[in-house]
Amino acid sequence: MALKGLDIFKLTPKTNCKECNQPTCMAFAMKVASGAIALTDCPHMSAAALDKFASATEPPMKTIDIGAGECAYKLGGETVLLRHDKTLVNSNLYGICISADMPDAAIEAALTEMTKIDYERIGKRMYVECVYVKCNSDAVRSAEVAVKAVASGRVPVLDCADPDIAKSVLGAIKEAKPVLCGANAANWEAMNAVAKAADAVLGVSGADLNELHDTVEKLEAAGNKKLILDVGSVSIKDAFANAVEIRRAALKDGDRTFGYPSIVNLAALAPGDLVTQAALASIFTLRYGSIILMERIGYAEALPLFGLRQNIYTDPQKPMRVTPGLYPIGGANENSVCCLTVDFALSYFIVSGEIERSRVPVNLLIPDAGGYSVLTAWAAGKLSASSIAKFIQEFEIDTKIKNHTLILPGKVAVLKGDLEAKLPDWKIVVGPNEAIQLVKFLSTIN
Ligand code: SF4
Repeated sequence: MALKGLDIFKLTPKTNCKECNQPTCMAFAMKVASGAIALTDCPHMSAAALDKFASATEPPMKTIDIGAGECAYKLGGETVLLRHDKTLVNSNLYGICISADMPDAAIEAALTEMTKIDYERIGKRMYVECVYVKCNSDAVRSAEVAVKAVASGRVPVLDCADPDIAKSVLGAIKEAKPVLCGANAANWEAMNAVAKAADAVLGVSGADLNELHDTVEKLEAAGNKKLILDVGSVSIKDAFANAVEIRRAALKDGDRTFGYPSIVNLAALAPGDLVTQAALASIFTLRYGSIILMERIGYAEALPLFGLRQNIYTDPQKPMRVTPGLYPIGGANENSVCCLTVDFALSYFIVSGEIERSRVPVNLLIPDAGGYSVLTAWAAGKLSASSIAKFIQEFEIDTKIKNHTLILPGKVAVLKGDLEAKLPDWKIVVGPNEAIQLVKFLSTIN
């Protein structure tokens, strides 16, 4: 929340000493409010004033780091409720659930099924990021299962409300920077001590939102601001209402006590019903689940969910682009034909997919076309004979590729004449209008 000039002026020493190169403290405050200078440019600002300024200007929702190494993620940090308001910054994570009560074979099967979900979609790796471990009263067994979760290469999320058992389990996996769920109104002090000692993010729950709010306030007063809020598992209706209420309170009402990411356990909300869990996962992807847990996630659940998440968390203000360059596909070499499309990610992935499907080795050329689709790039002057010729020269395609056959997208067949004039050593071939026609087209061109 931005502070007004007058609010900032109240924080200054009001001596008008000019050491900040401003004529008065009021002038200084106005410049700080406009963002032209920093509050720290005044050498006489008290620590209390700096603290007050920092807490008044901190974002409404905290960014929480979980996991370690290649499994490190950021959650929260959102400033808007809806993607189209601006952008959502830290995408939600998905997790599967295992339990210390499950036999080893069932745990191995669940983890193996989870690790099979690993593919790329529009330049991003798609996989399940978290494993939720429900601990039992046996600390040794719980730690054993938690170690299996860490070995799967995912962030462990522990469910344990017993501080002694939690301490023991965290001792076995604390390098993984897990999430420890289990703090509530009754045990928050002891759980806080355990989480802080292990540098773990603490998951907090409450019988209702008032109790959750009170517990978070107590944890914050005790110095813990690495929290995740459990939306509850009393009923689907309550969990959804809580998720929405918590996020609205933080972003719309400026209630920083609720300014934390949330966790939703669908395995508890719809036990044994994977179809309902998948449907709910899509709802909580849209409405404020930061970590969404399901009993299991197979390809049937992953494909729609990960696609939805990627749509929601892609910045609508930035075109999805691939890096311009030469992309050999299907074992293409210097003797393979070249095919050109634009750097709009969707165009690239559709065209490259069809080329792969054709099983014809092709050098795919991607010039800088501003991240637009073929026709839009051409209409905007981003894809022209000159820009293509310049790309071929800059990326030394002439020398890297001996086969000087260049297939143009059919929609910009109009460029053929100009391109032949600019690239006299090349044979310019007009390709099909649609990527789906490439398979048949490539089978004839060789
Ligand atoms: S240095 Fe600080 S006290 Fe001096 S004029 Fe600037 S704001 Fe005021």
